[in-house]
Amino acid sequence: MPQQYLNYIDGEWKPAASGSWNENRNPAHWNEIIGLFPKSGVEEVDEAVAAAREAYKSWRLVPAPERGAILKKAGDIMVERKEDLARDMTREMGKVLAETRGDVQEGIDTAYYAAVEGRRLFSHTAPSELRNKMNLSFRMPIGIAGLITPWNFPMAIPCWKTLPALLCGNSVVLKPASDTPLTATHLVEILIEAGVPKGVINLVHGGGGVVGNRLVEHPDVDVISFTGSSEIGKAINAKAGATLKRVSLELGGKNAQIVMEDADLELALDGVLWGAFGTTGQRCTATSRLLLHQAIYDQFLDMLVGAIKCLTVGDGLDPKSKVGPVVNKSQIETVESYVKIGKAEGARLIVGGHQLTDGAHKDGWFYAPTVFADVQPKMRLFQEEIFGPVLSVAKVKDFDQAVAYHNDCIYGLSSSIYTRDVNRAFRAVRDLEAGITYVNGATIGAECHMPFGGVKQTGNGHREGGWPVYEFYSEIKTVYIDFSGKLQRAQIDNY
Ligand code: NAD
Ligand code: MN
Repeated sequence: MPQQYLNYIDGEWKPAASGSWNENRNPAHWNEIIGLFPKSGVEEVDEAVAAAREAYKSWRLVPAPERGAILKKAGDIMVERKEDLARDMTREMGKVLAETRGDVQEGIDTAYYAAVEGRRLFSHTAPSELRNKMNLSFRMPIGIAGLITPWNFPMAIPCWKTLPALLCGNSVVLKPASDTPLTATHLVEILIEAGVPKGVINLVHGGGGVVGNRLVEHPDVDVISFTGSSEIGKAINAKAGATLKRVSLELGGKNAQIVMEDADLELALDGVLWGAFGTTGQRCTATSRLLLHQAIYDQFLDMLVGAIKCLTVGDGLDPKSKVGPVVNKSQIETVESYVKIGKAEGARLIVGGHQLTDGAHKDGWFYAPTVFADVQPKMRLFQEEIFGPVLSVAKVKDFDQAVAYHNDCIYGLSSSIYTRDVNRAFRAVRDLEAGITYVNGATIGAECHMPFGGVKQTGNGHREGGWPVYEFYSEIKTVYIDFSGKLQRAQIDNY
């Protein structure tokens, strides 16, 4: 009988009232059940929100440096348990150990950044237009944050949301993806051990349509932060309008790497292999399109195919594996359907294009790293997010066409250009429509103290990471202090 894990509500670990469970399986060995997690309903969300509301009364009054010290301790515990956390994460979602260690490290970095922010939370003061009067502003908590996370960064993304929300003095209800509930459980255990009080952090497992949706519709939730698909993000934004919640959406991408004819081609090759096939292509910032200058097109494709044939696909716990499995069966089906679409559209399949089902791969969701060449901007392969190990390559005649192709896309998360021409590099920084641009680096590699997010249909203008996320999780209180001892009228007495 696999282990049963529980929700954490109002300081207690408990099962869902339904008595039903979701299985968490290992995508590298789908017979292995990692654990059973409660299939919660509206009832559990309502209970968690009520607990969060009660706990908020005292949490909002804890000095921010003291809240920061708790998060520092959480970071220290993650450092101690980094290897175990990484191993459990690889088992529950597949990516290779080097990457799951990186995912935990992102959580640690975010905790330490939050701890320091506890002694900052800066706001502005400005002069008053009147004598003997002062103008100040403060960052205040908002209330209850409902946080809904995807499965591809099981520690980093819950930390990006939970830790700033807590530091700012909000209480939290976290709904992790049902493919990765174990890492979220570990995070909550760590926060409890570090000293986050009862009711301030709550964990409710279950499906998005029920648990996630109730958080969005709940009249007493003040803030929603969601990372996931654009389709669900749009529905959330519309629903949250009914209660005027503040909403942060981090959604899909169709990121491109541009390689100009003057680039260091070996460097560009390392970049695209890491960008397109790291996390088996299942990153919001994955390199999904490669735009090659015509002068190096054939040469670069040969280099790419040669290198892909050396990429070992396998269980992420095996140190030989460079690419892990795809997360689940439905994601394999999506990848297969796009391979069919690509062929039907007339793109040229040059490597991969099939599931791996031999020996070491036979009881997992493995897919061969896949490249389509001669992809045209009008093709679905060029336009739609696949979220798997499929790279679409297009030929461009010059820099301007590379920028035009790049921008011909509804998404705008990450982008990359490889060139040794400094003028082109700066034009790319100015003209690529994306929230993030890398020069001579892959499309992936965010650092926790810099803003993260995209333009166009990748989001709704908010950023995670860095200083903007602390603005998202707080309200500004403006304060006027008049010490003149008389009525002073702004806009009137001076004019
Ligand atoms: P998903 O949209 O299916 O699910 C994300 C989360 O939303 C899960 O916890 C899910 O249970 C929940 N959910 C589902 N339906 C819901 C509903 N109706 N109401 C409320 N919550 C609901 O996405 P996924 O498959 O877990 O992740 C892949 C997607 O996430 C890709 O599109 C990817 O680009 C995107 N992503 C974006 C970023 C980013 O920062 N831009 C980062 C990682 C992933
Ligand atoms: Mn899983």
